[in-house]
Amino acid sequence: MNYCRFILEGKTHYGAVEERGGELWIVDLATAPEEDLAFRLEHGRATSWSFNFEPMPLNAAELLPPVTPSKIICVGRNYREHAHELGNEVPAEPLIFFKPPSSLLAPGGAVRLPRVSERVDFEGELALVIGRRARKLKPDANWRETVRGFTLANDISARDLQKKDPQWTRAKGFDTFCPLGPVVSDELDLDAGVALETRVNRELRQCGSTSDFIFSIPALLSFITAAMTLEPGDLVLTGTPSGVGPLKPGDRVEVSVAGLGVLANTVECDSD
Ligand code: MG
Repeated sequence: MNYCRFILEGKTHYGAVEERGGELWIVDLATAPEEDLAFRLEHGRATSWSFNFEPMPLNAAELLPPVTPSKIICVGRNYREHAHELGNEVPAEPLIFFKPPSSLLAPGGAVRLPRVSERVDFEGELALVIGRRARKLKPDANWRETVRGFTLANDISARDLQKKDPQWTRAKGFDTFCPLGPVVSDELDLDAGVALETRVNRELRQCGSTSDFIFSIPALLSFITAAMTLEPGDLVLTGTPSGVGPLKPGDRVEVSVAGLGVLANTVECDSD
């Protein structure tokens, strides 16, 4: 099932999403997958809803980030060409860092450029949504039992602060620096390689394939869960392909993967 999270009549809902006539539609209010703690926490174990729902186009809904993670784990330099474009070596083992949940931004929301940075980059990424608690996974474990699905993310990065600060907490962690969504899907065929594209003002800037990952999904999950327990709803951002670049006020940045829709966000100066 594909689902989104959105506001309807002042309340938060999950919606089942289907493609109809080439467009994504919210066709029903979603029932809760048993393994998805985020669902259960917010909606109990409901299997039906008390009022009729009229299908609506996804892009007409007031969308929210589709999950409420306890943590967001990002993988740096997981595409060879991106490592090289920033002058870095291809890493011998995964490089991971956090973004705080407070950095999440809904589809359609505005990325705010902080005054303390002079260069803020887009990084389109495929994100894994964790579906069940996982710790100390073996590299040969069936990763599909752990991953509920996939969604789109933009690992917005204050590049100058990333170079200046010994830790990337600030550079990666500003409010609005993690656009996420619009849908979570379990229907992607990762084995075939999934094409990920990023556009800025409609111009294609990134075009990568998950078949170019340096570290596979099971290798990443094994590495991460050797250190920390993953909880349902947690996110793993799998790295960005080459082509990253700076954003300026007024830009519109779009990350897309066939079957996951388009994650579109605008850019503005932080007014505070
Ligand atoms: Mg990244």
